Amino acid sequence: MKVTDIISNSKQPFISFEILPPLKGKSIDSVYQILDPLMEFKPPFINVTYHRSEYIYKKMANGSYQKVVTRKRPGTVAICASIMNRYKVEAVPHLTCGGFTIEETEDALIDLQYIGVTNILAIRGDAVKSEASFIPEPGGHAYTVDLVRQMKRMNEGVYLEEDLVNAVKTDFCIGVGGYPEKHFEAPNFNTDLKHLKEKVDAGADYIVTQMFFDNQKFYDFVNACRAIGITVPIVPGLKPLTRKKQLTVLPRVFAVDIPEELERAVTKAKTEDEAERAGIEWAIQQSKDLVKNGVPCLHYYTMGQVQTITEIGRQVF
Ligand code: FAD
Repeated sequence: MKVTDIISNSKQPFISFEILPPLKGKSIDSVYQILDPLMEFKPPFINVTYHRSEYIYKKMANGSYQKVVTRKRPGTVAICASIMNRYKVEAVPHLTCGGFTIEETEDALIDLQYIGVTNILAIRGDAVKSEASFIPEPGGHAYTVDLVRQMKRMNEGVYLEEDLVNAVKTDFCIGVGGYPEKHFEAPNFNTDLKHLKEKVDAGADYIVTQMFFDNQKFYDFVNACRAIGITVPIVPGLKPLTRKKQLTVLPRVFAVDIPEELERAVTKAKTEDEAERAGIEWAIQQSKDLVKNGVPCLHYYTMGQVQTITEIGRQVF
């Protein structure tokens, strides 16, 4: 079922999760160890992130360094197939512009259609560590709006080889990312919002937000979206803060603000356990407030924190 149908059919808010593929060398069991306990919340869909290859410098026996390509978290598509098979829920793979030519994107979309995936989160991807800013593959998409357009064309039966006759129309429900606190590269909030609207006008069916810790920023974002004519569902993405060092790491990596009240509570914690407790309490209150204000769904970035997410879920649902 499409995420948008799940949302419109649901009489009350529900919970969904995002997971990361395991690090290379680990077993699929590590995915099940995260998801098995979370199934008590009956998530109708589970997102699986995509991680492209990157360059690292490997120290060789003679002391020199060699530039090698590595992919730390492969397996997104196969994990989606395993999730659908084991839990009978929708799996939503993330598909990035980065790392793909448009031909490879088309092939990936065909693979996803063959395994029965109907929902995809279209995302640009960030710069790989060896690059100062995002660089598309030669012949790849520079912005997510172009990826959305390609998916939409395939939904209309138009492939890159335009002379294909009677080509099957795919039927992808397309999600895109939105940023209540502005994407870090955008010159200002309104320009970023304009680009978000372009993604929706190109065919995106729903929006999932970057994590945020101040609900007012989410409500303002939703109002701003509605004011410029974005009418699709907007799903809030949430991550509990669980370590003291995240007070600086999360703003740096995800360009989000930590509210002063949360910062104070975490800073005054004497142990990491106390800091985690403060983060969990914050996430519980944040989640309850979002539910009270009518969000369709709470989408948690699990990042392997099964117990934390379980505790929050039990308090909220
Ligand atoms: P875009 O929508 O392409 O926007 C990127 C920037 O370009 C923005 O500043 C925007 O304002 C600007 N822009 C957009 N269109 C134009 C245009 N036509 N002209 C000029 N400027 C423009 N990363 C991963 O690598 N793997 C994942 O699985 C993953 N999952 C994510 C899930 C969610 C819900 C979110 C919010 C992010 C995720 N990311 C993931 C991170 C994402 O790749 C980065 O945030 C990335 O920098 C931007 O992706 P985007 O799709 O929002 O890009």
